[in-house]
Amino acid sequence: MKSWRRQNHLKRGDLRRNPLYKTILAIFFLIIPLGTLMVQAAETATPACPSLEQRPFNLKQVAKGVYLRKGRHETFTKDNLNAIANIGLIIGDTSVAVIDTGGSFCDGSRFHKALRQVTDKPISHVINTHVHPDHNLGNAAFVNGKSIFIGHKNLPRAVADKGQIYIENITRIVGKDVMAGTKSIPPSVTVTDEMKLNLGNRPLTLMALPTSHTNQDLVVFDESQKILWSGDLVFHEHTPVVDGSLLGWQTVMERLAKIPATHLIPGHGGPWLPWPEGATDQIRYLNKLATDLRRIISNGGTMLEAQKQAAKEEEEKWKLFEEFNPRNASAAFAELEWE
Ligand SMILES: [Zn+2]
Repeated sequence: MKSWRRQNHLKRGDLRRNPLYKTILAIFFLIIPLGTLMVQAAETATPACPSLEQRPFNLKQVAKGVYLRKGRHETFTKDNLNAIANIGLIIGDTSVAVIDTGGSFCDGSRFHKALRQVTDKPISHVINTHVHPDHNLGNAAFVNGKSIFIGHKNLPRAVADKGQIYIENITRIVGKDVMAGTKSIPPSVTVTDEMKLNLGNRPLTLMALPTSHTNQDLVVFDESQKILWSGDLVFHEHTPVVDGSLLGWQTVMERLAKIPATHLIPGHGGPWLPWPEGATDQIRYLNKLATDLRRIISNGGTMLEAQKQAAKEEEEKWKLFEEFNPRNASAAFAELEWE
C-alpha cells in the first residue's frame, strides 16, 4: 500500500478522501450485507408455498404426453394450498398446452416447476376450462408474454365480474401467504363454438358449450389419444356443482357423449376414466336432483325442503355432499320453478 501510494504521488490520508475509495468501502460494508439480507428475506417471504423438494407436486403421466395432478376432494385450506382441482398438460412435438392452472399463484408456480421437470418445450397455450378459482387462479404463474391464454367467449366477462371477489374471499379463508402473487387473468383468445390447435403432431379440438356447470365451460378433445378433458363438465367422486343450469347441463352431457373419446379426464376425481362410462355417476346425480326437485315443486314444497330432501339418496356416493348438494338444490329449484 505504501509503495503504491508513493508511485501515485499520494499523501497519507489522500486515499481515504478519494470518492472511489469511499464507494468501494460502502459496497463492501453496507450494500453487500444488505443485499444478502434481502435475498434471505425473499427466500423466506412465502413460507406458505413450499418447494417441490419440501412437498411433492404429484404430477403423474397418464398417457403418451399427458401429465396430471389430481386435486384433493376438499374446500380451500391453508394446508392443501388450494390444490383441489385436476390440472395438467399435453405435450406435442413442438409445444405444450396447459389445461387449467390451479387454485393460487403458489399452486400454479409449483405446477410450472413440476412441468419443467418433465419437458423443456415452450408452453404455447394455457387453456382455462372455466372461471372457478380452483381451476384458474394459478394463471399468473404462466404469464411470460409468449403463451396464449384461451377460454370460452364468456370467460372474460366472468373473470371481470368474479375474479377479484374470489381472490378476496379465498384470502380470508387461507391467508395472504398462500395467496401471495395470485391474480385473476382473462383469456387473450376466446372460443365461440370450436377451435383447433396443434402442438406438433398433436391436434386438439376446443369446444365452447352452452350454459351448464357454468356459462363458460370449455372442453378439450385430444384427438390422437382420444382423451376428453371435460373440466368441471364431469365430476367424479366430488359432488357436482351447479353454477349454471341443471337442465342445460343435462343437455350438454348428451352432446358430450357424441365425442369419440375412449378416456376422460374430469375436473375432479378420476383422474383417468373410461369414456363415456366415467360420467355415469354424474348423469345419475343430475337426473335424481331434477326428478326430486320437480316432485318437491309440484307438491308445493319450499326451497328449504328442497335443500334437505333433493337428491338425498345420493349422499353416500359423493364427497363434500353437505357442502354442495344444498346449494345445487337452491340453484336448480329457482330454475325448475319456472319450467
Ligand atoms: Zn368448477
